[in-house]
Amino acid sequence: MTHRRVGADVVLIGGGITAAMAAARLTEKMPGLRVIVIEAGRRLFDFENRMAQRERYLAYGENPWPGDFIPDQGGQGVISRSMAVGGSAMHWGGVTNRFSREDTRLRSMYGLATDWPIEWDELEGYYCDAERQLGVCGEEPPLPEDKRSQPYPMPAMPLSYNLKALKTWSEKSGIPFWATPAAKNTVDGYDGRSICMRCNTCEVCPTGARYSPDWTFKRLLEQKRIELHDQTLVRRLVPHDTNNRIDRAEAVMEDGTGDTVTYEAGLFLLTAGYAWSSHLLLLSAGGRFPEGLANRSGLVGRYMTGHSFSQAWIEMDGQLYPGMNDQHSLISRQFFRCAPSSPFVRHDLRVWESSVAKGPRLKDEAGAFLFGDALLADWRKRTRGRAVARVRTYLDVHPDRESRLTLDSANLNRWGDPMPRVEHRLDAATLGRAEATRAHVSSLFERLAKADNGRVLRTSEGDYLDHPGGGCRMGTDPSASVVDSHGRAHDHENLWVLGSPTLPTGGCTNATLTFVALTLRSAEKIAASLQSGG
Ligand SMILES: Cc1cc2nc3c(=O)[nH]c(=O)nc-3n(C[C@H](O)[C@H](O)[C@H](O)COP(=O)(O)OP(=O)(O)OC[C@H]3O[C@@H](n4cnc5c(N)ncnc54)[C@H](O)[C@@H]3O)c2cc1C
Ligand code: SF4
Repeated sequence: MTHRRVGADVVLIGGGITAAMAAARLTEKMPGLRVIVIEAGRRLFDFENRMAQRERYLAYGENPWPGDFIPDQGGQGVISRSMAVGGSAMHWGGVTNRFSREDTRLRSMYGLATDWPIEWDELEGYYCDAERQLGVCGEEPPLPEDKRSQPYPMPAMPLSYNLKALKTWSEKSGIPFWATPAAKNTVDGYDGRSICMRCNTCEVCPTGARYSPDWTFKRLLEQKRIELHDQTLVRRLVPHDTNNRIDRAEAVMEDGTGDTVTYEAGLFLLTAGYAWSSHLLLLSAGGRFPEGLANRSGLVGRYMTGHSFSQAWIEMDGQLYPGMNDQHSLISRQFFRCAPSSPFVRHDLRVWESSVAKGPRLKDEAGAFLFGDALLADWRKRTRGRAVARVRTYLDVHPDRESRLTLDSANLNRWGDPMPRVEHRLDAATLGRAEATRAHVSSLFERLAKADNGRVLRTSEGDYLDHPGGGCRMGTDPSASVVDSHGRAHDHENLWVLGSPTLPTGGCTNATLTFVALTLRSAEKIAASLQSGG
């Protein structure tokens, strides 16, 4: 086993979408900076294999991203298994909704949770920036509250026959819907990638139409703007002996050699996602920091957040042909708002075509086998006359202080490090309104069903929080937050936490665009601080 020492101006720990965006912006603002991205997993720069992997995924249900995880690097709770260059966004669906002003002002508008230390109008500018970087297609929102300062980079994904029919149906309920924004090309060649071919396997996009961070990393490497150290797991951040600066990061190779590396840098950016960022700070406890780094407030790993969800399958009059780009959906933002005088309930609302009860089947109601023409005739008959939609809400729920990531001493990786355990808990106000929220959601599903002689076939509630964030929440008060609004740790001037861990609350719609917008804002501040020698 060998040991290496590596020096850099900036190291980014974790190589997901946050790191891709931060590295691109930093090196654009400060050419010549020595920037190293350290990623525990492998690089999967094999775009040429993606069509074949997609085929095997469709035929046999195989993982279309072979080798994108590290077997003993996993925990309990909602923790993505994906550890590879590009992170979870190699798999993502590319849905890129914005949060709304209400998300940043929950305390002042509703007396709930906490306010974010950011002005909405400033964040809105970074949403436009994030949409350009990812290549988002979308439709101008009709609600004045969702006003944008710049148009979408690309026109909305055209609605399929099914979505047009579902829009007509759902808007009979009086709720406006429009095409869901997505980081998918509707213009051929945007950012050098293909137009979307509507082939319906967005978790592995064979054309490159859906943005994934490998594109950014490949470009940064070609332009020699970064170094990428993959298969390198950072195990500890080590503070300076006497001051509060981070001195170095200690890492081990995940390539089978067990070689070790010490990274010394001026700045350390934690871009390891919501779970592993808090995990590394807690794992780095010792000496003058027995509770972990950046943890004077005791809040590292607390206020872990996300949104809960409910969904329904609704049968209504009409005919759909399930299977037409069914990953694309309609969205309504009408319920992002809640009058401060009304009982609090905020959520998005999305509609998809559904093949539930409409897919081909091998047995009829009497249990007799169906083959060949009989199977086709049965399928045609059952899709005629009645259609099924899937409807889902992401609900704004707020984390309790005890919503935590802790180190699990009963679960060690091969290096002897305790792995994370995440237990989400909702605050008392969220629990107190749970029944009223449930009643609101079911009346909404009924309202949609009644819009066209429909009925709710079944409903379900999620048993986890989606698009998780938190653990290093941002704020102005160092006793009530871990980092400032730009992600700089209150306790260590050269340590920054970027993206998802910094969210105080998790919003009520897909959150990655928000992680990216916050990251771009942080990266500009980091560049400015480097330029001023800070
Ligand atoms: C199937 C799927 C579909 C999704 N669809 C959507 C969607 O449509 N819209 C949406 O908004 N979001 C979606 N998401 C969520 C989205 O993918 C994530 O929010 C986003 O990718 C998180 O990015 P990140 O950079 O914060 O973290 P990650 O992607 O988790 O990246 C962090 C990286 O850091 C590395 N790392 C961690 N610790 C260390 C360490 N100690 N040393 C070195 N490296 C380390 C990890 O290996 C990982 O690669 C989806 C997720 C999945 C899984
Ligand atoms: S529908 Fe096909 S081409 Fe379009 S983004 Fe999804 S996988 Fe890519």
